[in-house]
Amino acid sequence: MSRIAEETIQQIRDRADIVGLIGRFVSLKKAGSSYKGRCPFHDEKTPSFNVRPDRGSYYCFGCQKGGNAITFLMEMENLTFPEAVRALGAEVGIEIAEDRSGPRGDSERLLAANAVAQACYRAGLAVPGNPGAAYLAQRGIDADTAERFGLGFAPDRWDTVVQALRAEKIPVEDGVKAGLLSERNSGGHYDRLRGRVTFPIQDVRGRVIGFGGRAVLPDQEPKYLNTPETPIFRKREAFYGFPAALEAIRRAERSIVVEGYFDRIALDRAGMGEGLATCGTALTEEHARNLQRRSRQVVLLFDGDEAGQRAIERSLEVMLPHGLRVRAATLPAGDDPDSLLEREGAEALRRVIDAALPALDFVIRRAVAKGCATPWEKADVVAAVAPLLALIPSGVERGEYCAQVAVAVGSEAQHVARAVERARRGEDARDAIPVAPRRSGPEERNVRQLIHGLLEHPKHAQRFAVDEVVGLIADASLGRIVRELMTACAPDVPVDVEGVAARLETEEANLLRSLAAREAFDEDAAARTIEDTVRWLKRRRSKDRERALTDEMRRPDADWQRLIKSKNPNGSESDVSNPPPMGSQR
Ligand SMILES: [Zn+2]
Repeated sequence: MSRIAEETIQQIRDRADIVGLIGRFVSLKKAGSSYKGRCPFHDEKTPSFNVRPDRGSYYCFGCQKGGNAITFLMEMENLTFPEAVRALGAEVGIEIAEDRSGPRGDSERLLAANAVAQACYRAGLAVPGNPGAAYLAQRGIDADTAERFGLGFAPDRWDTVVQALRAEKIPVEDGVKAGLLSERNSGGHYDRLRGRVTFPIQDVRGRVIGFGGRAVLPDQEPKYLNTPETPIFRKREAFYGFPAALEAIRRAERSIVVEGYFDRIALDRAGMGEGLATCGTALTEEHARNLQRRSRQVVLLFDGDEAGQRAIERSLEVMLPHGLRVRAATLPAGDDPDSLLEREGAEALRRVIDAALPALDFVIRRAVAKGCATPWEKADVVAAVAPLLALIPSGVERGEYCAQVAVAVGSEAQHVARAVERARRGEDARDAIPVAPRRSGPEERNVRQLIHGLLEHPKHAQRFAVDEVVGLIADASLGRIVRELMTACAPDVPVDVEGVAARLETEEANLLRSLAAREAFDEDAAARTIEDTVRWLKRRRSKDRERALTDEMRRPDADWQRLIKSKNPNGSESDVSNPPPMGSQR
């Protein structure tokens, strides 16, 4: 094996722009005569990685790794020394004759095969009247954009890439290993991507590591087909958008993560070059680390549907531990970045990104929107967000969010903090929220009075049917208590409180016991309270129905005749804003 002259190596090292090279992997900031960033070799929140352009060296005070441009490339890209020297040489304009006597590295061979395929696909898109160009035109992507993103078209043939590799004398096995070709059971090989618009997925140095393919022919499945995972295409860390996004991320000090190749292109067309798309996988640890080295601010732009919202929560799980500041942008329902851009222009898309909420706020709002009226629901909301809050590395930030959740659900910050602590230890966060009776509204207060009256004077239960009363109570827990209690009420014997409690949930039983322990209730007042409460509940439910009908009538497709008929079947109801007089127990 011939060796590269020491002199040549020295020359390459001198010419290499080490700040530019390392800056592709790590976001660097100038600090005096050196540059600082977060170390790519170990996980850290505060920058301890230093680059000295004057000496052409780097050093990490955290993990003690250091070296020059060549060792950096070897480490980052798993290259052998000669591979790294050659790669760097090519960048600074010093060609080194390839050593044909020794075997080429695996990755170099796969990259060579990919380069051939990329040329094929580019040529495919240049053929007049090809379906790929028609498809791109229909999606509003002009020739300039297609050129800039290296988009191509894989012709609907079995052997386009097979033939091209053969012409370049690249072994067919390399094409298979690169995921470009598949093997026939009967022997022989065929192209994996056919009849598809192709997206070259590049590493930070601009080399094609894999391809995405979008179906453009009628009835073609699946809609998206990527080349498979290979030694150079590691989907757990790859992003579509490099190397173009590098400079834009540095300038904008943020990255925007999307799920589709076209989304990435739409962002770019709207003037936001800092977009990166995952390649057919959910965000992983490796992605998070990849992002963290470049910028702490990340905006997630996922679909507004249920699946997109869940994807945001899953992404937070991997990103929060890395101290990333994650925001979530939401598109109008049914839109993707592409359609919004087409319809309303670049400004509209930019507004959506700039208005992105901190993703945790977003998740908290979503959990609260599912309902947190009863103590049990509150505990559920806290239990849903606590595991995410537990992942925030900064204690200050975590505390802020605990306070925020407490306000949102109407609980105490200390309870939320305790729930988060439990989640950190892998325990059930629900147990940390005391499900104490909340400060009750008039309905809850009245139903409690009703229960108290029935406990003291069970014979008055006989005046009403159980189902009728229970049907009037909005809160499910209170409804259950009333049902079990009324069922157990007999005219001349006291209520067996523990017997009723045994048929209830723990919290419901506790409420029943606390009401049974209250002061005695004068019989006349109790009777009046029971009657008044039932009447009051009836009016309240009828008001609810009216309100629902009014809402329905506002809808454009409302059937007015039917609605008006059902609105007032037996005269109007009076105002229910005041609760009934409650005797001595108010
Ligand atoms: Zn380090």
